[in-house]
Amino acid sequence: MFFASDNGGPAHPNVMRALMRANDGYASAYGADPIMEEVRAQIREIFEAPQAAVYLVATGTAANALTLAALCNPWQTVFCTPMAHIQEDECNAPEFFTGGAKLTLVEAVAAKMTPDTLRRAIMAEETRGVHGPQRGPVSITQATEKGTVHSCAEIAALSAVAHEYGLKVHLDGARFANALVALDCTPAEMTWKAGVDAVCFGGTKNGLLGVEACVFFDPADAATFELRRKRGAHLFSKHRYLSAQMQAYLSGDLWLDMARSANARGQRLLRGLQQMPHVQVLFDPPANLLFFDAPRAVHARALNGGALYYVMGGDPHVGDPEEMLTGRLVADWSGDDQAVDDLLDLLRA
Ligand SMILES: *Cc1c(COP(=O)(O)O)cnc(C)c1O
Repeated sequence: MFFASDNGGPAHPNVMRALMRANDGYASAYGADPIMEEVRAQIREIFEAPQAAVYLVATGTAANALTLAALCNPWQTVFCTPMAHIQEDECNAPEFFTGGAKLTLVEAVAAKMTPDTLRRAIMAEETRGVHGPQRGPVSITQATEKGTVHSCAEIAALSAVAHEYGLKVHLDGARFANALVALDCTPAEMTWKAGVDAVCFGGTKNGLLGVEACVFFDPADAATFELRRKRGAHLFSKHRYLSAQMQAYLSGDLWLDMARSANARGQRLLRGLQQMPHVQVLFDPPANLLFFDAPRAVHARALNGGALYYVMGGDPHVGDPEEMLTGRLVADWSGDDQAVDDLLDLLRA
């Protein structure tokens, strides 16, 4: 009953086999491997973006920080939500890799900025000439850190505000595939057709060992990326092993199948929780990540029964058994329905 995160799951066997195949003989290093050629073509095709610049890195933090650095000057500020991964979970890597740009937190509803809150935040960072932070890119997370998903129209509305002020739009897609299959739209519709300039296209949380792609729809935006990646110590010399993972991921729609599998279990959890009167599901989670409030005693029973997930707001084992605490459940591609049902039984009892 592992629901702590989708990066706790295994890599898909196809990915492991692809690594074994790639592990044969010699291949040019540093991204000049022939598999990377194929990956670039696959990503351009999937995104319907024949000009896109495509790079691989091994962590989502590197992807976000390096992509933002390419879009942002040190004297600028990045607009994002207070719960954005770049704000809460990257140990100031975006600030570090941009050379000191700051983050401006935009009021969010269910972890989404609205065109109004974004516009207000941009306006509030008014031009103070040389004295103040200069306005920089807008960063949207899809799916969000709270398990919600922006519709393509919502992304387009945020992008329109950003572009009105001449600002670039970055999409943190650590759970890109989960959002995509929840929306049942195309990658192009969820990104450049909705005004996104660059996307961090996640793979690690959806069945890879550790690869994310940084995709710039206008290659001019990526002009400094390769230098930043090398300087930031994220250019892999044995790059073919990154390429091979991404190639397997995109072949035969494996990435979509894995996301559908994770989401199916996420939705099974959701349906089960919605039937429990002592439990309150937060937000509207259409993918594989959800939050719910339940009494401390319920969390304690589930955790003591062998479930693994995060509880926020207090120690699940110490304190008033009636106090409501928030649990976070994440389903990954490899889980099974039995584990979901076992967890639901513990929470229901
Ligand atoms: C997991 C995650 C990342 C990437 O995290 P790493 O641990 O650096 O791979 C980025 N953004 C979001 C929203 C995430 O959930």
